[in-house]
Amino acid sequence: MMNLHEYPAEPFRIKSVETVKMISREERERVIREAGYNTFLINSEDVYIDLLTDSGTNAMSDRQWAAIMMGDEAYAGSRNFHHLEKTIQEYYGFKHLVPTHQGRGAENILSQIAIKPGQFVPGNMYFTTTRYHQERNKGIFVDVIRDEAHDATLDIPFKGDIDLQKLQRLIDEKGAENIAYVCLAVTVNLAGGQPVSMRNMRDVRELTAKYGIKVFFDATRCVENAYFIKEQEEGYSDMSIREILREMFSYGDGCTMSGKKDCLVNIGGFLCMNDEELFEKAKELVVVYEGMPSYGGMAGRDMEAMAVGIKESVQYEYIEHRIKQVRYLGEKLKAAGIPIVEPVGGHGVFIDARRFCPHIPQNHFPAQSLAANLYVESGVRGMERGIVSAGRDKATGENHHPKLETVRLTIPRRVYTYRHMDVVADGVIRLYANRDKIRGLRFVYEPKQLRFFTARFEII
Ligand SMILES: *Cc1c(COP(=O)(O)O)cnc(C)c1O
Repeated sequence: MMNLHEYPAEPFRIKSVETVKMISREERERVIREAGYNTFLINSEDVYIDLLTDSGTNAMSDRQWAAIMMGDEAYAGSRNFHHLEKTIQEYYGFKHLVPTHQGRGAENILSQIAIKPGQFVPGNMYFTTTRYHQERNKGIFVDVIRDEAHDATLDIPFKGDIDLQKLQRLIDEKGAENIAYVCLAVTVNLAGGQPVSMRNMRDVRELTAKYGIKVFFDATRCVENAYFIKEQEEGYSDMSIREILREMFSYGDGCTMSGKKDCLVNIGGFLCMNDEELFEKAKELVVVYEGMPSYGGMAGRDMEAMAVGIKESVQYEYIEHRIKQVRYLGEKLKAAGIPIVEPVGGHGVFIDARRFCPHIPQNHFPAQSLAANLYVESGVRGMERGIVSAGRDKATGENHHPKLETVRLTIPRRVYTYRHMDVVADGVIRLYANRDKIRGLRFVYEPKQLRFFTARFEII
């Protein structure tokens, strides 16, 4: 049984509301057919509870909205840049800031300045846009996450950890000079939002330092990762989220950041580094792809809202509620026997489509179909994270076959209530009772890059 006292009530009150409505089942059937069974192609207005992503869907606070009015939109030398730079130096501990339009803008620049053609880029599982930019710059991504991360059923802490032996083997086989850098993601999105332990970060730092290999964080969900460390890693329960963040980032040389997640804003990102020479190179490229180094891809007001968001994100009450609301949905589903990725991660609940739809083979896209059917059943929009997202091998043209075949129910920050989570759980549970009626899909349109965003399907 679930004990409701374990789940803190919202640590905020609501000052502004947005009406949502549920369209009829017949309408939803038409909508999903017209969207080619791809939940990315559904209009927001046709969705009741939108769990497509936690990216840019954050609710900003009154203070952030006030910050928007403090925008200094000067072309050069905006005071908002200096505020954001100072905030990042204080809260994350990196020296230099390059603002970008979002996380992939930072990945684009980092991949260009830090990868030489043919170099290897080890990482704790891939992320779609991150790997794309690495490969576009002729880097070779190598997954060095611990094996357990690929097993949806193993309920163990810190499944996002790098396997140090895999990393050591890669260095031994390829030579340290052929490793561009280690990309360390906190938390690991595609593993189900699984965190990395502080101990692992320290060990990765120690190992790479021996060879002069740099470590760049994908810091996108660093605050969520910090909460897991405080909650579950020995020696950290008395440390503040802010102190934990500073220690985490002391084990890296820089980071890419999608501000649309843990910075509590709707748009923006950045690249950070300590190295002067790399910073000079990054500034040369940011003017080509984004904008002047003092705003990069962001308006002054957006940098201001981000600076405030970073400070709010480390407040314990905020992050505790955030993590526990996600956990609440996961525990509800588990209690009803729904197969999910365990343990429940930081930003969403991942339904295990292999066990939900054992009658659909992976090349008939079970997770894609499950997401489409959940929308029809409940008006809830999730997204596929499985074979469609994984794409094709650049060299052979074959589909990658990831072990994890999931539907991600991602919870926007500060947007929905526990009652909304109940409605989501009810929809999944009803669908599970009728799961044998779910059928596989095939492509009718498959784009070459990042196909999950715009692909279209039909029912087999
Ligand atoms: C969202 C995300 C990115 C890319 O950031 P965008 O702001 O969407 O460009 C990179 N890495 C991870 C882990 C992400 O979740």
